[in-house]
Amino acid sequence: MSSHRRGTSIIATVGPAVEDPARLDRLVAAGASVLRVNLSHGDRDSHDAWIDRIRDAEARAGHAIGILADLPGPKLRLTGLSGGPRHLEVGESITLGDTEGIGDLHVTIPGLLASLAPGHRVLIDDGLVRLLVETVSKDHAVCRVMTSGAVSQGKGVNLPDSNPPLQVPTDGDMEKAIWAQSRDIDFLGQSFVGTADELRTLRAVLPGHETDPLIIAKIERPIAVNNLESIMQEADAVMVARGDLGVEMEIATVPVVQQQILQLARHLGRPCIVATQMLQSMIESASPTRAEAGDVATAIRDGADAVMLSGETSIGNWPDLAVSTMARIAEVTESHMDQETDFPEDKGVDPAVAALCEATWSTVVRLGALGVLCRSRRGIWAARLSRARLGVPIIAVTDSPTAARRMALLRDVFPVVLDAMPAAVDAAPCCGLDDATLQAMLRVPSSCILIEVGSGSGDASHPALHLAVRTIGR
Ligand code: PEP
Repeated sequence: MSSHRRGTSIIATVGPAVEDPARLDRLVAAGASVLRVNLSHGDRDSHDAWIDRIRDAEARAGHAIGILADLPGPKLRLTGLSGGPRHLEVGESITLGDTEGIGDLHVTIPGLLASLAPGHRVLIDDGLVRLLVETVSKDHAVCRVMTSGAVSQGKGVNLPDSNPPLQVPTDGDMEKAIWAQSRDIDFLGQSFVGTADELRTLRAVLPGHETDPLIIAKIERPIAVNNLESIMQEADAVMVARGDLGVEMEIATVPVVQQQILQLARHLGRPCIVATQMLQSMIESASPTRAEAGDVATAIRDGADAVMLSGETSIGNWPDLAVSTMARIAEVTESHMDQETDFPEDKGVDPAVAALCEATWSTVVRLGALGVLCRSRRGIWAARLSRARLGVPIIAVTDSPTAARRMALLRDVFPVVLDAMPAAVDAAPCCGLDDATLQAMLRVPSSCILIEVGSGSGDASHPALHLAVRTIGR
């Protein structure tokens, strides 16, 4: 009997709860393969310290860990409350000012309140406090409090009914992107994307090397949902950022939008992350709610490559338990998923590569293979095979630690870094990995069929693609 090896990746956000190296090690040991540094908090020194801590943890773990640096984007926040929180009562009239010195409360980005109109909503702190706009002038809006609550300095403000002219990426995002590139960060998340052009602007500040971070478009605004296809074409991966999405759009639409994003991402071959409040109750409690377990399972069944934890691991009481709980839900969910019956259409790639991926998929299905091994120096083959959802682990061999870290996001992919890329498939079976190593990686105690794919010998003008059927553990 083989025990299922979890294929869904887990992204864990770092923060005070895992600052201690032993706690960070436990987070990684529990199954987090990508760690997220939220650049909305802290300064350059603290971000540098996080990168150092994560790379140290990676060295201790002995396997690739991807780093996702999350750019804040133009997040509108409250200011003018440095004296402490203020309680807003239902029915109270509040003047919201464009800059310090105007009105009762102010927002951090000038020029956005002019997009409001009477009847629009202003949502504070993820919508916990709600205001309704009554009148608007050039530099302020007079609002009525509809839902009471305490508001404090720095709380987020959303204007879901207007389409404020946001600058994405902000100057701060571009500066942080250059820093991220200089620190060999693997993924850059861009918050509040609205159009593909904005991603092109972000890409243009990077030097254009193969080692530039991959860009993840965070879908969290209605305009991004409208422009989904063009944004995905430009992005390297996408995130369903349900925190802001659930404030910017009617909450009832979020599950449907999540499913649409997952479907389109799969169709276009973009890895997709489902994020925010997946195991929220585990910030406080040692076990999740039944609904949260169901939410993780749904995201996985709908095709997510990765599921993400935020406060659960950054500030929660049970960071590594949140990861191991998520890992266990993923493992059980995947082991009950049926093998897909159709190979996904693979447009826009070299037809020879698409044909070999399809052949791999059908060979796995027909022969009941329990694993695939591919040579994937840059992770491109691994990404193609991952998208095909073969239903078995894909061991991806590379000589590039950078490529291995990026592969940590892909569903079903387990990167192995060798000192040098082995010779072609037909010259070095299984990249020289022995049966015991392969069996341990695939979690198969007895013999099984493994499909090996990749380039074979042949000169540059006649590159050969190979598919080989191997039996291991005989
Ligand atoms: C989100 O809004 O769901 C999200 C992931 O972004 P952030 O944590 O930056 O709000």
